[in-house]
Amino acid sequence: MSALTLQRIFYDGHVPIGSDATLMVAGKNISLIGAEVSERFDADAVRVSPRTGVATRFVELPDGGQFQCADDPALDCLPQEVPSEGFVAWLERRWPVAGVALALIVAIVASVYVYVLPVAAERVAARIPFETEKALGEDAVDWMDSNLVLTHSKIDKDTQGRLLYRFDEMLKGLPASEHYRLGFRSSDYLGANAIAFPGGTIVITDDLIELADSDEDVLAILAHEIGHIEKRHAVRHILQDSAIAVVASAVTADAASLGVAVVGLPTLLTSLEFSREFETEADSYAFELMRQYEISPQHFADMMQRMVEEQPVDGESELGEAWGFMSSHPPSDDRIARAHDAARKFEQSQGVEQ
Ligand SMILES: [Zn+2]
Repeated sequence: MSALTLQRIFYDGHVPIGSDATLMVAGKNISLIGAEVSERFDADAVRVSPRTGVATRFVELPDGGQFQCADDPALDCLPQEVPSEGFVAWLERRWPVAGVALALIVAIVASVYVYVLPVAAERVAARIPFETEKALGEDAVDWMDSNLVLTHSKIDKDTQGRLLYRFDEMLKGLPASEHYRLGFRSSDYLGANAIAFPGGTIVITDDLIELADSDEDVLAILAHEIGHIEKRHAVRHILQDSAIAVVASAVTADAASLGVAVVGLPTLLTSLEFSREFETEADSYAFELMRQYEISPQHFADMMQRMVEEQPVDGESELGEAWGFMSSHPPSDDRIARAHDAARKFEQSQGVEQ
């Protein structure tokens, strides 16, 4: 082994100020020479820190002092702190390996977001009592009432009474039936719309009732809103938006602590627009519920079709466009086709029974 000289900074382990020193290695003998130091050590008594990329390395001296220097192959001749550092160091210097690792982490995080989070949100939502949700829904309606987003309905009491009666009929036997409230409201902002608030409150606008040709048309939309409530879509949506709360409460099994994360009207208002998956789920729920009450899903298809046709022309009503049923429950050719399909099946089953 030949002599090696490294000119670096020496810390004596007592005074936190470095001083220039030279470490000389000759076989088993190490000398440390500097303006403030002159020492000799047995090479076996020192320990060299692991190689971490291109970071500075440390030589621990037996007297508690430390010698810092840039990485140098000569340091490999001295005893190492971690015998296995070779592989880690090799890994750390290979950017493609780091790149693949990073891509893997991104893929895992993405799949947690896409696949795990919705399932976690569904389970956590099931543990939140309906009463907790109810306060959120009532606050939202109160806020909309006091800010005149919603105003008194002008629909005659007979029609309201008839719809309330049929709505109550449809709730019979549903797990959350006692929590439902149906509110009639007029709105300059919401257009033809129906909104399922957390906790069982459904608000339906005058414009939507006026768009309907029959009570069954309105009930078809209400059945869809019931689907959103029974499937806890509002809370699941909010939970998915506050992923950390979901993970935390799933881990601690403490649904009550979610209150803090879930409360907040702005979040709630933005959550009125549901995902395509939730819309499809609510549609399927509605078709099944309507079948039980012998209402053809054709009514739903007709209402959707009318809403598409009634969509405000560009610039005519930007608010209506932003807030209407179209935006909060985006219709699509897909959904209309599925409604027609369900209607065909419904009519076939009616034909068989008669
Ligand atoms: Zn919807």
